[in-house]
Amino acid sequence: MSASSSTPITSRQEEDLQLWIDTLKKLESSLQRSEFITWFRDTAVLGRDEGKIIIGLPLPMVMNWHLERYQVPTLEAVKELDSSIKQVVYKVDGSLKDNKDRTVDLLAHFPEAKKRKVPGKQEVRMAEGIVSKILNPRYMLENFIVGSNNRLAQAACSAVAVTPGGKYNPLFLYGGVGLGKTHLLQGTGNAILQKNPRATVVYTTSEDFTNQVVEAIRMQKMDQLRKRYRQVDVLIIDDIQFLANKERTQEEFFHTFNALYEAGKQVIISSDRPPDELQLEDRLVSRFERGMIADVSVPDYETRLAILQEKSKEYELFIDMQVLQFIAEHTTKNVRELEGILMQAVAQYELEQRMPTIKSIAEIMSKLNKDPHVVEEDVGFETKDQKRATFQDVMESVSRYYSVSIDDLIGKSRVREVLIPRQVAMFIGKKFLNISFVRLGESFGNRDHTTVMNSVGKIDKTLNSDSNVLREIHALTSELGLR
Ligand code: ADP
Ligand code: MG
Repeated sequence: MSASSSTPITSRQEEDLQLWIDTLKKLESSLQRSEFITWFRDTAVLGRDEGKIIIGLPLPMVMNWHLERYQVPTLEAVKELDSSIKQVVYKVDGSLKDNKDRTVDLLAHFPEAKKRKVPGKQEVRMAEGIVSKILNPRYMLENFIVGSNNRLAQAACSAVAVTPGGKYNPLFLYGGVGLGKTHLLQGTGNAILQKNPRATVVYTTSEDFTNQVVEAIRMQKMDQLRKRYRQVDVLIIDDIQFLANKERTQEEFFHTFNALYEAGKQVIISSDRPPDELQLEDRLVSRFERGMIADVSVPDYETRLAILQEKSKEYELFIDMQVLQFIAEHTTKNVRELEGILMQAVAQYELEQRMPTIKSIAEIMSKLNKDPHVVEEDVGFETKDQKRATFQDVMESVSRYYSVSIDDLIGKSRVREVLIPRQVAMFIGKKFLNISFVRLGESFGNRDHTTVMNSVGKIDKTLNSDSNVLREIHALTSELGLR
């Protein structure tokens, strides 16, 4: 039994707790919610003494962040409440995690301001017998990041959300895997339902639609299915390319489409390619071409970064900007891949309490890259099949990259301009070529293996804090075909 939980809380501790709640209120307003929750959960005031306030932190790893980023604002906030405080000091106290009496329950004291009003299952009013997939409440038009790759598509969806069955009917979105089509389609459905909870919004995939048609044919209830579909206000069909070669379903869809269209109901469709490239009946294609067609393509760097910021906010994990930039720089193919890396980082944080660093993200990426189960198209990492680089290649690349001669790399000079490249070369030799410390020592002018070990260790540590070195190593190992 922990002593703290059995010891009664003193009035002094109660005062401290209140002071901390009030301080957090001041701090919270200037921080991103995810940032606030990540760094201030399980913190407490451990005491006040001679102008010092001692803030307890649950883990050693958060100490640096507090010292770097929050010490000054915390002092400013506390001072306003207790003018005798002149200094904020930190102390790690591992028991805080399990000591709910002293720490502030952030989620209770700081509820999410804008609770997302999400259309629940019952709000999705389906006409009798019509099945719609439940719209994912995470897919909203509000949290869809707009960039040049999707501006038209997003604008069209927003317009449809305001005026379903209006100018943009049907709305046809197309683009590659993982670029946000489903998000936009469902976000539009959600928005329509938010405005008008009584609307009958049906979201289905072409496979589901096909299954329904097949089933109706089998049961000889085609008339009934048709009638039902005609009561729908908004019909959303995702991935319509799968209707290819399904003549009967296409025919049924054609009739349903016409009926809805003529009644002024909205139809929204997505596909992996433009209408004229679909292997569908011509009359269907020309119907699609009558409406609004917009593509979604691969987001540029700025959009990728903005998406990452949005997603990390949604996952309530505050991730350093440099780390986000690193992910955005190195994942370029699609958004699902960006999210995948972020999810791994979140999982790592939850399981191991490891804040994502550039290094840990690089590890995640290379793991994903190497995982044979990951479909390359989905993950989007380039794979290079080059012949394996040798130690000599490493030395040459490092020499060229830093403009330091190979003799200097091997030599004894300890000036920074030479030292760092030398350590980097050793690091790459060890980590990427798996050369033993002893062999590396020999190659670097007969140095002792412990010297090499220290150098490699230094770079290893630096990677956590210095994104430049990581970037340099990344550039070098990419050039050498080692990743
Ligand atoms: P598609 O249907 O085109 O294959 P999805 O809609 O399933 O792609 O998108 C994959 C993931 O990427 C989803 O989690 C989605 O939320 C996210 N995503 C894609 N584009 C954006 C964007 N512009 N803003 C926010 N999230 C996005
Ligand atoms: Mg999709």
